[in-house]
Amino acid sequence: MTVPALQLANVCRAYGVGETRVEVLKGVDLEIRPGEMVALVAPSGAGKSTLLHIAGLLEHCDSGEVFIGETATTGLDDGARTRIRRNELGFIYQFHHLLPEFSALENVVMPQRIAGLAIGEAEKRGREILTFLGLSHRLDHRPGELSGGEQQRVAIARAVANTPRLLLADEPTGNLDPETGDHVFATLSALVKQSGLAALMATHNLELAQRMDRRITLKGGQVVDLP
Ligand code: ADP
Repeated sequence: MTVPALQLANVCRAYGVGETRVEVLKGVDLEIRPGEMVALVAPSGAGKSTLLHIAGLLEHCDSGEVFIGETATTGLDDGARTRIRRNELGFIYQFHHLLPEFSALENVVMPQRIAGLAIGEAEKRGREILTFLGLSHRLDHRPGELSGGEQQRVAIARAVANTPRLLLADEPTGNLDPETGDHVFATLSALVKQSGLAALMATHNLELAQRMDRRITLKGGQVVDLP
């Protein structure tokens, strides 16, 4: 059996102390396998961001273990966690957070350069991904010269530039009109399937959630499968 891209084992996380203490995650178990796209659908305040931050090694859990591939991450120091984030994880947010003064291609090249790739290779890969996402005619445009859907596709290209194992997304199409959101989701979905990447995507869009392989929610601080 293949190793899961992400495994959360009995993950707990609470905020605050005393009367203001909120137990957000109370023993979360979750596995996501390579090539699997999982929708996280839950009401506001249920703990979606907390779950994504912990899976993305942006935040520590109080107890339990977070495996990225075969690596147990809770005992690692910040440097090692940062390296895993850089090399094995990709993030997409509701707002693209592209660097405005750089072109689409430069935005995709940058994380690869930070990871140590030579400029020629980084540009080659950048062109390939942007072309796969239908942006070959927009390589030299800056974010401000792109439409909302194009900007979000550049953000997707940037997130997968370092061929991560796991993609984490928070409402990746939440800021787009339905038709554009649909198109962006379709390209993202094709990319996940083509690359064997695993993806966990928080969304309020039930129609998009139905198009993913699996749907989960957070109930009473635990992950529960949805139909
Ligand atoms: P969601 O993303 O589903 O809206 P969150 O994970 O952001 O939910 O938050 C879950 C709960 O944890 C909320 O009640 C929120 O107020 C609380 N919470 C989140 N982050 C913090 C924090 N840094 N300090 C205190 N409480 C927090």
